[in-house]
Amino acid sequence: MVFASNAIKSVDNEGEFSESGNIYNSDESYSVTENIDPTYARNQMFHSEEQTAEDTLGMMMGSDVYMQEPEMKAIAFSMLNSIGGITVKLAYNASHPMQYDANTKTILVSDTIFNHNDADFVSRAFLHELTHAFTVSEYQNNSKFKQRIDKLFDKVSQRFPTKEYGRKGLYYGLTSPYEFISEIYTNPSFRGFVLKNNMSWW
Ligand SMILES: [Zn+2]
Repeated sequence: MVFASNAIKSVDNEGEFSESGNIYNSDESYSVTENIDPTYARNQMFHSEEQTAEDTLGMMMGSDVYMQEPEMKAIAFSMLNSIGGITVKLAYNASHPMQYDANTKTILVSDTIFNHNDADFVSRAFLHELTHAFTVSEYQNNSKFKQRIDKLFDKVSQRFPTKEYGRKGLYYGLTSPYEFISEIYTNPSFRGFVLKNNMSWW
């Protein structure tokens, strides 16, 4: 999820799209909590209520809770050098589990996410938001990049119309070009789905 200064769009937890705010929401679904203590889960991600994205990702990668899948670990590792200048904040009374504010370059993490979501969900949502953080401005300012993304996005989303396929689960990445980018980076199933449908790559 992203707040951007122009191109203002919003996607809520239901995967619906609205023009009401500068928001791109990452998280199409909640998972059921595993047997991890919420306070422990929180302390494995935050050493203070506001910290850098490098700190956050480093803590998660060093924990025994997050980024446990090898593929997720690899994605996280590949991002470590691209996330300078991004802040991560615990948010209270947040409307979404996680969101990215492009105006302040801040990822907001709801304090309740640790009560209601499993560690894989939190890991994947964080990688998804990080991807927004380093690709939104690229998409907005690099017209060649935007063209390539838009072309691919249009192709795939036209092949899988919203009416028949909805925009949840696997199809969440077809919500908007922004979600498309983040899901391709962070969701192996979605990446496989795009490749399987013989789409040209950028
Ligand atoms: Zn998103």
